[in-house]
Amino acid sequence: MLPDPQADVQEFRETARAWLAQNLERRSGQEERSARGLTHRTIEDIATQRALQKRVYEAGFAGITWPVEYGGQGLTADHEAAFLDESEPYAMPDMGIAGVVTIKVCAEVILRHASEEFKRRHLPKMLSGEEIWVEFFSDSAAGSDLAGVVTTAVRDGDDWILNGEKVWSSGAYYADFGLCLARTNWDVAKHKGLTWFAVATTQAGVTVEPLREITGDIEFCRETFDDARIPDSERIGEEGSGWQVAQTALRFEREASSGSLTTGTKIPRPGPLAPDLVELARRAGRSDDSHARQLIAKAHADDFASRALGERLSRMMAAGHPAGGALISYVKLARGIVEPVHAKAAIEIGGAAAVTWPQGDRLGATFALDYLNSRVTAIAGGTNEIQRNTLGERVLGLPREPNVEQQLTFRESQDRARGLSKGQG
Ligand SMILES: Cc1cc2nc3c(=O)[nH]c(=O)nc-3n(C[C@H](O)[C@H](O)[C@H](O)COP(=O)(O)OP(=O)(O)OC[C@H]3O[C@@H](n4cnc5c(N)ncnc54)[C@H](O)[C@@H]3O)c2cc1C
Repeated sequence: MLPDPQADVQEFRETARAWLAQNLERRSGQEERSARGLTHRTIEDIATQRALQKRVYEAGFAGITWPVEYGGQGLTADHEAAFLDESEPYAMPDMGIAGVVTIKVCAEVILRHASEEFKRRHLPKMLSGEEIWVEFFSDSAAGSDLAGVVTTAVRDGDDWILNGEKVWSSGAYYADFGLCLARTNWDVAKHKGLTWFAVATTQAGVTVEPLREITGDIEFCRETFDDARIPDSERIGEEGSGWQVAQTALRFEREASSGSLTTGTKIPRPGPLAPDLVELARRAGRSDDSHARQLIAKAHADDFASRALGERLSRMMAAGHPAGGALISYVKLARGIVEPVHAKAAIEIGGAAAVTWPQGDRLGATFALDYLNSRVTAIAGGTNEIQRNTLGERVLGLPREPNVEQQLTFRESQDRARGLSKGQG
């Protein structure tokens, strides 16, 4: 008789429940109250979280569905769902934005594009918290136009010599590696001369400089590469295949930054009525104010609609919709539109109560920080305009944007741009 898979899931659930109760603290409830808040993490805090992640890994609860040869458990999505259920009330290891990027973006790219040897070398360390990864995608002059990167890697025997600059790398000051897009050929068309590398943040020739943001927070960094030597064994994907690999990275990045995709087939139900705004209206004495109530109802409807959209898109992608990962742009765009509306509603409802707060009042601080951070989803991982372009071209089949660079090598298109900027059109 075949083993009953559900009995196995139940046994796994019970083992997880017992382990969690013995090894992790319960969450305080404060965590969910801040949508974004301040995201700076100290190196000491990250070290504590790495140690906690190692314990989760060693107990067999990290990479539950990942292949065993890469440090995973080789179990099913049902096992993973059972663990997520059981771990919900606990303070799981939290390595900040870079922790999410390590598993949800970089590992997904590596699983699909890196060599076997690379995967065995890096993936178990990513699962155990030993390696934290970030994205070195954006050059200073190439954000939306990702294929326009000029950070360049030149082959030198078994190595590559990397020169250039990346910026906006979230969490790089505490990360171990950056997934770095570099130009390896200037004499082919723009999208054809790109290659991905793993760049160690502490290696010679790499400088990581944290940047201060509008909130006073420090999360982003700028990296300078000055003849940094990268072994060819740290290349991800074939030389020149960077644009194809980038599509995987962008797909998973958009999924992670929109945060609204789910896997189940549950029909979403409306959650509580924008609880943060309800609480703010109470604090500001405006619970009975009809304008404040309208704003709360709108925020609630937006949240519910974007969650329902995420569920629907998950199902469409799981069913093999021909537009595939491009569908993610709908939910990324939806979040990029509703988050600023929600943040602005808080300022309107709360007035002074939304921008002043007693020291130590986490909820009080949230509204001002959310307002300052409210464009994050609208920019990170591709702006709203870029999502609209993607939807127009890859989902709706509209004509592509005119591309004057198509017939040129990257070197020619750079020369042409320089000429145009000098008025030589
Ligand atoms: C919170 C946050 C985290 C980030 N984290 C990282 C990270 O970890 N690693 C990393 O590499 N990068 C990161 N970024 C950078 C991010 O990917 C870029 O900011 C983004 O791709 C936009 O690029 P840009 O800032 O250069 O804007 P630009 O490309 O200069 O765009 C300026 C404006 O022009 C519009 N525009 C540009 N091209 C078009 C077009 N073809 N059609 C229509 N409109 C267009 C844009 O929509 C935008 O409004 C992060 C950004 C943010 C906000």
